[in-house]
Amino acid sequence: MTLLEQTLHQHQIRVTAVRRLILSIFSRAGFALSHADIERQLGHDYDRVTIYRTLRTFLEKGLIHKVTDDAGVARYALCDLQKCNVESHADEHVHFKCVHCGHIFCLNSVDLPPLHLPEGYVWYATTIIVDGLCKTCKEGL
Ligand SMILES: [Zn+2]
Ligand SMILES: [Zn+2]
Ligand SMILES: [Zn+2]
Repeated sequence: MTLLEQTLHQHQIRVTAVRRLILSIFSRAGFALSHADIERQLGHDYDRVTIYRTLRTFLEKGLIHKVTDDAGVARYALCDLQKCNVESHADEHVHFKCVHCGHIFCLNSVDLPPLHLPEGYVWYATTIIVDGLCKTCKEGL
């Protein structure tokens, strides 16, 4: 069994060709991918619905999480596989958007600060996206 297949197994996802492919695209990328990014990398062999279903399965099983950027485009990033699984799926880290290449990176080591909301407000989720220059772009400038 390959490492990708093992990862799918650990998240209780049945291995299929398209799931293996999409997971490999995520692990190679190293940053968050939109539906269109994945479609582009897969080529014409797979339709939108298949990609959509695969992303939904990955989301439900704690393999990827969603990051929505300031333009409202949903992107998906691999979870920290040590932390997320089928039972517990919390991605409480800061995200980083590079103003040069436009990629969004997970800063897994940077936790979200605890918030104390005023009475009457119910917390659902916190999203923090830091703007800046990523490592690769910084070195290239
Ligand atoms: Zn997760
Ligand atoms: Zn960059
Ligand atoms: Zn993330």
